[in-house]
Amino acid sequence: MSAIPEIQRRRLGKSGLVPTVLGFGGISIQSVPTGEAVPVIRGALDAGINFFDSARVYTDSEAKMGAAFRGRRTECLIATKSLARKAPDIRRDLETSLAELGTDHVELFQLHNISRAEELEEVLAAGGALEGALRARDEGLCGHVGVTSHNVNVAAAAVRTGCFETLQIPYNIIEDAAATSGLFRIAEGMDVGVIIMKPLAGGALDLARPALRFALHPLATTVIPGMVSQAQVAENVSALADPGPPAARELQALRQSAASLGERFCRRCQYCLPCPQDINIPQVFICATTATWRGEPERARSMYERLMTPASDCTGCGECEERCPYLIPIREMLAEAAELLEKQPGR
Ligand code: SF4
Ligand code: SF4
Repeated sequence: MSAIPEIQRRRLGKSGLVPTVLGFGGISIQSVPTGEAVPVIRGALDAGINFFDSARVYTDSEAKMGAAFRGRRTECLIATKSLARKAPDIRRDLETSLAELGTDHVELFQLHNISRAEELEEVLAAGGALEGALRARDEGLCGHVGVTSHNVNVAAAAVRTGCFETLQIPYNIIEDAAATSGLFRIAEGMDVGVIIMKPLAGGALDLARPALRFALHPLATTVIPGMVSQAQVAENVSALADPGPPAARELQALRQSAASLGERFCRRCQYCLPCPQDINIPQVFICATTATWRGEPERARSMYERLMTPASDCTGCGECEERCPYLIPIREMLAEAAELLEKQPGR
């Protein structure tokens, strides 16, 4: 039997936490029944992965992790996050997360998806979510407080406040603004630890090895792909057993794979928002790709049903397309998503 390669660890900025360069992202595990999910999470622990990231909004992801960590709590660093924007709400979310995870504290608690300037302002204000998170940290319910964002400009502003110890941001060959905009350098300058989400572009990139090696930027600490099988755990561990950039041939294949996604790939930067009809455009596209690329139509429909406004409410005003830097034909794609996600199957 071949020995499991040991996974390197890197310091997560001023938090002082030292996660493995390969962490475990908690979104995808929602789609796997608990009986299958728990062995996958334990398999990740067995493989030496020590960093597990979930979120209050990832339905039963925290509960599955909690079940997997029973008796093994000291082997892992747990990160979770809340979409709440006010102090009392984020406190309530954290208490629920702790109960689901079966623990009395998490190592890292993050303000989730602070992607608009107004959201950052709201969480930083008196009585905002940051105040609630810092109070929880003082009480020992969480070790450190971080922030997650899909927008490099807002993320840079959040980092510059000096209020956060970590930043979670997407980075992959398609969504590379965290590097090109200088955000990684800003985080380095503030000693804010960087966690890379979406290293496989939400599952759109199928060449895991080069994609993960690309996403583990030298200024980042850890990448956190979702994993739903022991085979994926093994593949990802092997990809980062000896971290470094992808080889030239691998990089070329990765670029070709990215190019094949075409011009209509939404980067989830949210510049198109707000929509006057309150349509969450990038979330609609995530639901659509969950149904198509990921081949999970039932999960896509259940995610779509949770959105406030259906894509079919689009009036076609075109404001969003004027703001999209990637010239995505949003109206056309929303109509396709409505057709895909609002029609009853079989009709
Ligand atoms: S539609 Fe365009 S602007 Fe909106 S999130 Fe996607 S890439 Fe960004
Ligand atoms: S075109 Fe549709 S989605 Fe875009 S801003 Fe107008 S109503 Fe919203």
